[in-house]
Amino acid sequence: MIKTGANGWSLLHEGFELDGALETCFTVSNGYFAIRGTSGHLYEEELPGTYAAGVYDKPADAACELVNLPYPLGLRLYIDQKPFDLRQCEIHTYRRELDMRSGVLIHEWRATDAGGRTLSYEATRFTSVSVRNLAHESYRISCENFSGNLFVESFMDGNVYNAKEKPGAKMRHFRAKGEAAEGLYVECVTNDGAYTVGIASRTLLKNPADAPQRICHFSRDHEGFLVQGMEFDVERAGNSIELERFVSCCTSREVPAWQLKSRTLHYLSAALTYGSAALIKTQRDEMARLWELSNIEIEGDPDCDAALRFCLYGLLCCVNPADEHTSIAAKGLHGEGYKGHVFWDTEVFMLPFFIYALPDYAKTLLSYRFHTLPGAKKNAALGGYRGARYAWESADTGLEETPRWGVNYKGQTVPILTGETEIHITGDVSYAMREYVRATGDAAFMAERATPVILETARFWASRAEYNSALDRYDINDVIGPDEFHEGVNNNAYTNSLAQWNLRYAAQIAAGTTISEKEIDFWREVADKIHIPKAACADGLIEQFEGYFELEDVLVTDFDENQMPLWPKNVDTANLGLYTLIKQADVVMLLHLLGEQFSPETMRENYIYYEKRTAHKSSLGSSTYALMGAKTGQHGKAYTNFYRSVISDLANIHGNTAEGLHAASAGGAWCAAFYGFCGVGFSPSGQLSIDPWLPDKWQSIKLNFNFLGRRLALFVTQDDVVLSRISGPPGLEVLIKGLPTKV
Ligand code: BGC
Repeated sequence: MIKTGANGWSLLHEGFELDGALETCFTVSNGYFAIRGTSGHLYEEELPGTYAAGVYDKPADAACELVNLPYPLGLRLYIDQKPFDLRQCEIHTYRRELDMRSGVLIHEWRATDAGGRTLSYEATRFTSVSVRNLAHESYRISCENFSGNLFVESFMDGNVYNAKEKPGAKMRHFRAKGEAAEGLYVECVTNDGAYTVGIASRTLLKNPADAPQRICHFSRDHEGFLVQGMEFDVERAGNSIELERFVSCCTSREVPAWQLKSRTLHYLSAALTYGSAALIKTQRDEMARLWELSNIEIEGDPDCDAALRFCLYGLLCCVNPADEHTSIAAKGLHGEGYKGHVFWDTEVFMLPFFIYALPDYAKTLLSYRFHTLPGAKKNAALGGYRGARYAWESADTGLEETPRWGVNYKGQTVPILTGETEIHITGDVSYAMREYVRATGDAAFMAERATPVILETARFWASRAEYNSALDRYDINDVIGPDEFHEGVNNNAYTNSLAQWNLRYAAQIAAGTTISEKEIDFWREVADKIHIPKAACADGLIEQFEGYFELEDVLVTDFDENQMPLWPKNVDTANLGLYTLIKQADVVMLLHLLGEQFSPETMRENYIYYEKRTAHKSSLGSSTYALMGAKTGQHGKAYTNFYRSVISDLANIHGNTAEGLHAASAGGAWCAAFYGFCGVGFSPSGQLSIDPWLPDKWQSIKLNFNFLGRRLALFVTQDDVVLSRISGPPGLEVLIKGLPTKV
């Protein structure tokens, strides 16, 4: 488990481990571009990753993928012309420390090579949140006990691949052309020709007068491996060299390809003029502003406090508020899992954090769905339906990008059906639009962007639902619900309820638009007659889909050291559709999103039933069980699930953190804290209400949030709730523990 320090504000790891999960957690990213937390020396064992949001490449024979771009922060050292390779050295210390307050990452080590020469090294990097096209790294290299020749190779490496470690999937997604002059410049065109990216880097000696004598300095382009070399004559033991490096990145998503070079170099020279001190200051200031808006403090549980902060930090790293055409991939900008595709993870799990902490970021994210509406319409049309069907896996166009084939839990190659049938995302997107508008009152967004999405998605549902004349009802057949263990099911309660909600909401807002009365009436009819299996159960249990209760009943009974469920014995993992075992929250997610439809007893009963049957083979489930555990009085479960979601990546509990951040788990942790423990929600009449429950060891939880043009401060202790207004108009009536209170 990665440790945290500085009162919950830093992430610490000691020890020289070339480990992909560490690289993910120590990624620096500003939502525009990201650089994984590799050592910088780029050893073969590392998985260097540099990604620019929205830059995908689509090979002819595979799904499109976020492109791993040239690595811009390479630096290697040579003593007397021999590589100083940490893998061959005695390592005295090796530390990574990420200061989440400022977004600055430090790599620090001290090591001795076979010849007894000791170097100490410190590198401090960040991607700028004030000028998002920039990254910066400064270095201090001390030759502790020797004199001689020190060569510093500062490089950009274009010999990088996506899926480098998987021979079948390994791919370089671009062709690069380099230029080495005063600094280095590489321009990459994706293989499909859709995007061009320019990256420039320049490394400078910081205090030339204090440094050892520089013998030579050159720049070279070795076909994709661009080098700025500097050679020093180290005269005395104890001499040190300080360097600083500026990196700029620009893509044809914002600048025409012909202008890319001049724009990228312009950013670089502006940064040089601006200088590192100013760049660092603006970084700290902007990060402080973001934290002021988004931080949560948990008193009494330092581990959870710090781990939750890491979740929020991860989310902050994923959005560029100036870019309405990208959204957050399931693995953030931190790795290549799921090929950088965007799922329902963003709208259902991550968006709430942005709605309440940084509404302008939320608007940007939702605008991505507005801009990809044409793609969603095409998806619907291709399937023979009307309206818009959002892609289960979306990238730059909104077209369906789900790969056709994957492997099951037994490693067998199987078709992936989610792209055609995991259609609940279409309702999730509309639901998220309403959530944003409900909390912000953004009428312009509602009129211009949310409404077209809600209407077109309703149109899709109305054409996707099938009329069942024998039973006079509408069915939605052949779907995959959020629980993906069961494919091709009919009338999944979650999907149908979201569809019903979408249709009704669309009917409500359609007045005054070009939609005909006849169509609106039809939406109402489908919504009223859509079959939701809950009606069939007398005891309040909601059947996840038709026929679910007839499956072989299998419960989770055994757990690993992280409290992660183990596969129950005798379960055939190639035929999971046979059992009641589920992958992640499905009905329980429905209880959260459309909570007003269910009584507290129904919620409790369903929570208890489904929780025992959840295998947690997705990281998305834990946060929902945390949230709903707090709401249904299942307090032990609430805390265990919360803890599991906040440490998902820090402890790599799913074993795949190397592939990127579990961004939905991070967002879901915020949801659990806000909606679950703080108990923020809406009363049946739509009033904001707060009814908290805190885990025993928590003394308090504290956060600020935005609501309808106000900024509010919430402080919850074991026996009190204090809600105060920081700014905005007075007089908001809030139900606190059921009692109306004016704020
Ligand atoms: C989950 C989905 C999720 C996807 C991306 C899958 O394993 O079942 O719910 O959207 O991962 O995170």
